Amino acid sequence: MERETLEMDVVFVGAGPANLAGALHLARLVQNQNASVGEGKSAGKLLGDVEIAVIEKGATVGAHILSGAVMDPRALKELIPDFVEQGAPLESPVIEDYFLYLTAKQAIKSPMTPPPLKNHGYYIVSLNRLTAWLGEKCEEAGVNIFPEFPGADILYDEEDRVVGVRTGDKGIDKEGKQKPNFEPGVDLRAKVTVLGEGPRGSLTKQLTQRLNLNAGREPQIYSLGVKELWELPDDRYPAGRVTHTLGFPSDAQTYGGGWIYGMQNRILNIGYVTGLDYKDPLTDPHAEFQRFKTHPYIARLLEGGKMIRYGAKTIAAGGYFAMPQIYADGVLLVGDCAGFLNSQRLKGIHSAIKSGMLAAEAIFEALLAGDFSVRQLQRYEQLVNNSWIIPELRQVRNFHAGFKYGRWLGLINSGLQFITGGRSWGISDRAVAEPGHEEMKKLSAYGYQGDRLEQRYNGLRFDGKTTFNKLTDVYHAAVGHEEDQPTHLHVLDTNICATRCAEEYGNPCQRFCPAAVYEMVDNGVAGRRELQINFSNCVHCKTCDIMDPYQIINWVTPEGGGGPDYKGM
Ligand code: SF4
Repeated sequence: MERETLEMDVVFVGAGPANLAGALHLARLVQNQNASVGEGKSAGKLLGDVEIAVIEKGATVGAHILSGAVMDPRALKELIPDFVEQGAPLESPVIEDYFLYLTAKQAIKSPMTPPPLKNHGYYIVSLNRLTAWLGEKCEEAGVNIFPEFPGADILYDEEDRVVGVRTGDKGIDKEGKQKPNFEPGVDLRAKVTVLGEGPRGSLTKQLTQRLNLNAGREPQIYSLGVKELWELPDDRYPAGRVTHTLGFPSDAQTYGGGWIYGMQNRILNIGYVTGLDYKDPLTDPHAEFQRFKTHPYIARLLEGGKMIRYGAKTIAAGGYFAMPQIYADGVLLVGDCAGFLNSQRLKGIHSAIKSGMLAAEAIFEALLAGDFSVRQLQRYEQLVNNSWIIPELRQVRNFHAGFKYGRWLGLINSGLQFITGGRSWGISDRAVAEPGHEEMKKLSAYGYQGDRLEQRYNGLRFDGKTTFNKLTDVYHAAVGHEEDQPTHLHVLDTNICATRCAEEYGNPCQRFCPAAVYEMVDNGVAGRRELQINFSNCVHCKTCDIMDPYQIINWVTPEGGGGPDYKGM
């Protein structure tokens, strides 16, 4: 097949905060270098035109971007010191912090907010709006932004060096045949490719496996955040108020917690995080969130309000020891792809932006040296190690792994870290983690039988006022995919679904997917059901790729432009 080839210097895959910060910073470094050498102020090398591209699978910059989000502005200040004056879309500075422990009926206010959850000096933001704004800054600086361009494959040369990406084809029907509007994907060739795809990026997964970038690291552990925006009828929850919760509805063995942030115009941003290393195979992170809203304290807060938006996204929570090698020949990893999130503080936007900037500095040096080999690009790791990212992550390096033995031991471990500077249980420098899907127990371990979801979520009803079923929520994520295309959820052996998985785990994909994509339907053969994949509901959270107990689900990019539209989220 004939494909167009576009020659770029640097291609950033994914228009998230890390890559947009990286593209903007690089464009400015190049401009400054050219100006300074051109005006005779320095004797360095003139770089001339450096073509920088950002490709994005969503329809617009920010369409697939979802986060809580309370942003530590440290990195944004470094990138754009006068970001407030320049009109960065900030919902509100944080004015109040609360921490609640929820029992089934009570909300117990902690007399003090745990230090990692103190947010004074930070901002509540819609990360969708912030990235859209960063995208505009990039375009003003001459960066090429290509929305609706999913990165489908990495291009390698004969020596396994990364030399760019191939974008996905358009106009393929569900049988895999070309439609009249067929357009082959484009080969974007680049000296350096930067992967900033967010947690569990599909190209990052390919690359890490092929180049063994995880060797000697702990497995990455993920959580799933499920979120809604609500319009409140009055000012009962002011903009700038931040509340975090622990306890109900999670059981003590499951990592989880809630957040409630006040945004402008009486919009309440409410969500719940469930660790994707849960043990009970009946756990359903969407149902956990719905139960969270039935707590009397939360239900009162939402009374008379209207749910207007929904979204779900995974979070890479493994931290310092789960970070892969972040450089290879011709390629760098930034942001959540590289695991820079601080899970104790629930913050990753600042480190994502910073990592993008450091990647830009490493690429700038590589452009000056004319060398894009692994030896030169290793400089990125040095820059990261010398920055504030690593000391911050090392302080909490064993935070998430400590919850392996449940909430209370996890909290004790977390407290001990303050005294020991991050050691696990105050003793060991490095806690050993298992991949999240291996933590899931079989149904038999819990004695589950019969109508399984009912057994964990007995009494949970979707009343359409406070609680919603997945399909209603998905409607509020404004998800759209071209229906006549091959599914982007590749299940490598569907026979396992109907047999082993049904018996052993009760098909947990039906529960861990927060968008009702997976359904076991009657196929007319007595006692046997088969998997139906409603791929057009997919909100691109990547939970299925992570949590499937047999690791037979492979999430790949669908046709460009498809997916959720997280406007204002
Ligand atoms: Fe998330 Fe997978 Fe469901 Fe899509 S199909 S919404 S990626 S769990």
